[in-house]
Amino acid sequence: MSNLILELKQVGKCYVAPSGERAYALRDVNLTVHEGEFVSIMGPSGSGKTTLANIVGLLSEPTEGHVRFLDYQVQDLSDDGRTKLRRAHLGFVFQDYMLIEHLNVTENVMLALTLSRYSRRRIREKAEELLLRVGLEAHLRKFPKQLSGGQKQRVAIARALIKRPKLILADEPAGALDPKSRREVLGLLQELNVERKSTIVMVTHQSEDALAGTRLVQMQNSKIVSDQPITNRFNFRLGA
Ligand code: ADP
Ligand code: MG
Repeated sequence: MSNLILELKQVGKCYVAPSGERAYALRDVNLTVHEGEFVSIMGPSGSGKTTLANIVGLLSEPTEGHVRFLDYQVQDLSDDGRTKLRRAHLGFVFQDYMLIEHLNVTENVMLALTLSRYSRRRIREKAEELLLRVGLEAHLRKFPKQLSGGQKQRVAIARALIKRPKLILADEPAGALDPKSRREVLGLLQELNVERKSTIVMVTHQSEDALAGTRLVQMQNSKIVSDQPITNRFNFRLGA
């Protein structure tokens, strides 16, 4: 078996309401992600997908269970240690792009390496290389508001890639896009997985989108109810 990137054991997340009532957003989750996998997490709205994604992305801590990321037991790390691990090894793509409006496309991608050891010139080169790769070579100096939703999401993907993360986490990456841009963004993620062997965890509530992946994890009522390889993977890549 290829390298283990992530392992969740009996993970749960419980919120306490002002009334004192406890509510589980996530329960009894066991999940492993190996290098090279593209795991689609699918389920209806409110089923716990984002709660799970935030734990996978080391953005939030579970109230129960254990999380291992690479060689680290996440619950043994300090807040600072967890932040460092997240910055070094995780790339994020969100439904609403999260681009900085007053920075141009190239600067948005460069920002992810601001605190790195690379020179500004080298960072620019890397950013432009990735923007070429996601098909945005004609838009390097544009600002987010001059781009379509699909183009913005491509910028976000380039930004997620620039640190060569061990894991890319995408929460509803195509959720706000029209059908054509949706296919393009899913095709791009699929291409990264197939050609670059990027490991991806993608959250979606659409079953067609989930078929971009190699494995389907289905959620319902805060639990994983099924976890299976995808045998009829759909090819979203351009020209397919
Ligand atoms: P999904 O992403 O599948 O739509 P979420 O993970 O966002 O689902 O939410 C799962 C459940 O947890 C929902 O019932 C939601 O209301 C609840 N929940 C999520 N975040 C919080 C929070 N910060 N406080 C209380 N309940 C929350
Ligand atoms: Mg969600």
